[in-house]
Amino acid sequence: MTIQTLPLQANGHLISRKTEVEVLRIDGREPFVSGIAYSCAICDSRPKLQVTEDAVQVQDPCPYEAGITTEITLSVPSGKILVTDDLRPVYDWGDGAFASYNSVLGQAQVIEAMAAIGCAYGPVGNSCPGLYRTGPDSYIIASPRYDEDDNPSLPEDTCLANICTDVWAYSIADFEHWQARGGDSAKLGWTDTVVTVPPGTYRFIHHSGERDFDPYAAETVIFAHVERIA
Ligand SMILES: [Zn+2]
Repeated sequence: MTIQTLPLQANGHLISRKTEVEVLRIDGREPFVSGIAYSCAICDSRPKLQVTEDAVQVQDPCPYEAGITTEITLSVPSGKILVTDDLRPVYDWGDGAFASYNSVLGQAQVIEAMAAIGCAYGPVGNSCPGLYRTGPDSYIIASPRYDEDDNPSLPEDTCLANICTDVWAYSIADFEHWQARGGDSAKLGWTDTVVTVPPGTYRFIHHSGERDFDPYAAETVIFAHVERIA
């Protein structure tokens, strides 16, 4: 039996934070590669490995090497949006044929499935972000950072809603659409905020699936850009 440390050529997949992996060779058996994930954190596929004398290579390239930027639109005819973390069961993506929610691809599929039923949804990790106004028709869903004197990196008077992320996501819907689907405003709590915005169509560009997205960045973390486009 031999153990070798070899460079990992992941072919764009995200299957290890390391650039080298250990290869265990036992006579008469397939080499065993330790320290890599069962599936790619971006595309959710199981990597097909080829172990040579001097490298471990994944054969097929990752189809989403740069990660996934998700773009959806939300129609807000009422001019009121309900901003919170979780809008199930009124909006529920059900159990369609999605990739694992632990992968970027699975999360992108859920974002699109939720948009199709009228909910702007996006994973934000354990971050408790807010919805901030950045212009007359533009907003961000973001987590500010605080300096030594506790001054936030985003002006507090531009914060329209705080999102308490029990489920590590934001969910935003047209308030009247939510009511028409059975949402009960008597049951709204302190974590639910109704925000008045100009009626129209809003585009959400969600960034958490991008390869270089850093939820621990020293600067303001922007999960989504939101803009009224019509
Ligand atoms: Zn991949």
